[in-house]
Amino acid sequence: MRKRNRNQPGRRSVSEGRQGAYYLGMAMMVVGGLLFFSTFISSALNFGDFTDFENRTLSMAVRAITGMGLLIMGGFVRGIGAKGLAGSGVILDPERARRDLEPFSRQGGGMLKDGLDEAGIDLGSRATGSPKAPTTVMVRCLACDHLNEEDSRFCQDCGAPIRSKPQKRTLDAD
Ligand SMILES: [Zn+2]
Repeated sequence: MRKRNRNQPGRRSVSEGRQGAYYLGMAMMVVGGLLFFSTFISSALNFGDFTDFENRTLSMAVRAITGMGLLIMGGFVRGIGAKGLAGSGVILDPERARRDLEPFSRQGGGMLKDGLDEAGIDLGSRATGSPKAPTTVMVRCLACDHLNEEDSRFCQDCGAPIRSKPQKRTLDAD
C-alpha cells in the first residue's frame, strides 16, 4: 500500500463526473446571472414608459426569479462538483467527505511543502512517514511464520507461496 498510493493519479484529482458537475454549475450561474441582471437593463431601458406595464413587470419578475434560482442551483451543483456529495455536506459521512476532499487536502499539503522547500526546510520523503513509527503492511508466511513484504508472492525465507491476508504491523525504526 505505502508505495503504490503515491503514484495513483485518482487520489489527487477530482473525478470526471465531478468536474462535469462543476462546470455545469458554473454555466448555470452565468446564465442565471445574465437573466437576473437583464431585468435591470430592461427596466432601465423602459424607464418612464408605462405602456404594457403589467406584462413587462410580470416578465421581469419571472426572469428575475428564474435567474435567481439558476444562480442558487448553479452554486449548489458547482459546490457538489468541487467537493463531492459528502464533502459538500449533502451526505453526512465524514469518512467519505475526507476522501472527497482529499485532492484539496493534498493540494494544501503540497503548497505547504512547496513553501517549506522554498524556505529551505526539508520535510523528508513522504514514503518514510513519521520517523518514530513507520507503518508497513507485512504478510506472514503460513509455513514458517516469516514476515514478508506486502507484495511478495513467495516467502523470502522458505520459498512457500504467500496466500495469507495482509496484517497491519508497526515496525521499529531500526
Ligand atoms: Zn516461509
